[in-house]
Amino acid sequence: MEKRLTVYNTLTRRKEVFEPLAPPFAGMYVCGPTVYGDPHLGHARPAITFDLLFRTLQHLGYKTRYVRNITDVGHLENDADEGEDKIAKKARIEQVEPMEIAQFYTDRYHKFMDMLNVMRPSIEPRASGHIIEQINLVEQIFEAGFAYEVNGSVYFDVEKYDKNHHYGRLSGRVLDDLMANTRELDGQQEKRNPFDFALWKKASDEHIMRWPSPWSEGFPGWHLECTAMSTKYLGEEFDIHGGGMDLLFPHHECEIAQSVAATGKQSVRYWMHNNMITINGQKMGKSLGNFITLEEFFTGNHKLLEQSYNPMTIRFFILQAHYRSTLDFSNEALQAADKGLKKLMAATSSIKNLKASDKSSVNIPELSNKCDEALLDDLNSPILIANLFEAVRIINAAKDGKETVSADDIKGLQAIADTFLYEILGLSDAAEGDSDQVLLDGLMNVLIGIRKEARAKKDFATSDKIRDELLAVNIVIKDTKDGAEWSRG
Ligand code: ZN
Repeated sequence: MEKRLTVYNTLTRRKEVFEPLAPPFAGMYVCGPTVYGDPHLGHARPAITFDLLFRTLQHLGYKTRYVRNITDVGHLENDADEGEDKIAKKARIEQVEPMEIAQFYTDRYHKFMDMLNVMRPSIEPRASGHIIEQINLVEQIFEAGFAYEVNGSVYFDVEKYDKNHHYGRLSGRVLDDLMANTRELDGQQEKRNPFDFALWKKASDEHIMRWPSPWSEGFPGWHLECTAMSTKYLGEEFDIHGGGMDLLFPHHECEIAQSVAATGKQSVRYWMHNNMITINGQKMGKSLGNFITLEEFFTGNHKLLEQSYNPMTIRFFILQAHYRSTLDFSNEALQAADKGLKKLMAATSSIKNLKASDKSSVNIPELSNKCDEALLDDLNSPILIANLFEAVRIINAAKDGKETVSADDIKGLQAIADTFLYEILGLSDAAEGDSDQVLLDGLMNVLIGIRKEARAKKDFATSDKIRDELLAVNIVIKDTKDGAEWSRG
């Protein structure tokens, strides 16, 4: 079958066959973190969603350039055009350099994304490293007539832009409606229109992150960096732009306006957005007390958590939902995911022990096709995972003699696990490579050996004692034809 990826394009509001501008190259840009706080669940979902896309594009043979930025300047409190810079504020409170804050949280972000097995992007540019490109972009927008300067700050003229281009096209908004429902906000007197947004802001005396520009010593507006850096690394037109749905408006809407104003081009062909995460049905927020960092998930050190969760459980749980669906975190849901993942891993690691029959009672090529179809249908990971559980059923039924598998079936099952479970979903056996696990394996082999000797001598008291006492510490021994198997209960 010819493999064609279909993606839901937020811009056209329908699924479209993905056709890159210059195959076999594919370019994707994803809005990365603003590095002023510890990585939390809200960071994990876009990272994992677009990691799945990155892995899928590579699986399909595209030479993929994945650009994901680091916002280390210009992102003001409340995502507004007034107020303190988020990073500078943290630096002021902790009495360190803003770039120390940015470096510290960039390192933390990398650490936790690595634990979630999120692949690093091809290029990870920083906003503060692209001030010249951003100033050039402001100049282009100026020359095109869509910017105006007031007191050293430069704003984008949304009303003028909207005369010939639809501002709100991506988010389905109409400027007149937006304006009818908005009151003038304090501190925005410089703007001609409340929906105008800052391209360059003059720095106040206490603002420490500042650069010279033709207009004032100041700093770029938050929306500008993504347009400047995506253009620099992917060109004026590129394939995919992704991010969380919370960025759709105004951030991505402003990115489109900036590109169209500067180059006359739409720049992005496919806009993709992952949906949001809730915790016990509530939006995540510091004031709600349900703001859980990834470290807290991995250590269990938060009042809402009943236990610690393995990074692979978090990854699996996120992938169990389609990226365009909302996803609610709860202890019950995570515990169920943990169980499911263990079942999946246990079955796939036992594929190599299956005995081949001459006859086959299953259709593995069809199952493999179904996995592909699910993935290529707008990254439908829940359906893909459901198909992997069908593989689990077949593996376990073959072990119990309820299904028969041929040598080709066994190879096919292994290929499904290698491709879809490990390579594309990026899941791994949480315990694999863990030195404690190696030790446990060694100890269990010793105990199973002693138990086997006891049984051979008909010393059932000893053999039962070993089985029962292991059960008390949650290790289950199951007798098989060839000896015994063990698993964690
Ligand atoms: Zn962005």
